[in-house]
Order: sequence, then C-alpha cells, then structure tokens
Amino acid sequence: MKKKTNTRACRICGKAISPARLEVLPDTTLCVDCARVYPPAPIDVAALDLSQASPITRNGFGPKD
Ligand SMILES: [Zn+2]
Repeated sequence: MKKKTNTRACRICGKAISPARLEVLPDTTLCVDCARVYPPAPIDVAALDLSQASPITRNGFGPKD
C-alpha cells in the first residue's frame, strides 16, 4: 500500500492516522487511540515489556502482530 501525502498508518495498530492529527503532529506515528496509551517519545514496540505496560493489555493492543 502506497503512502499518500496526508495519510499515515499507525505504527501500533495500523489504522490510518487522520490528516487533521498529522497537521497538528506531523511527526506522529501513532493514531489518536494509541497515542493515549503510548508516550509521544519514539518507542520500539518489540522491546515493550508487557509486565510493565498494563495499559497495552487493558486496551487490547500488544506487540504481537
Ligand atoms: Zn493506533
């Protein structure tokens, strides 16, 4: 799937990030839902420790693809 100018897929859930969000946060790689769970700093999903990341399991997201 090719990237469009104002569209980006969330790196966590793969859902499209809204163009409005990208206008406000052009560097974001997370959709609004994931951004509530994860900090804005760059993160390595594969390195996340589930034992320390209860919000992930609470929201049904995890590093497992
Ligand atoms: Zn997401």
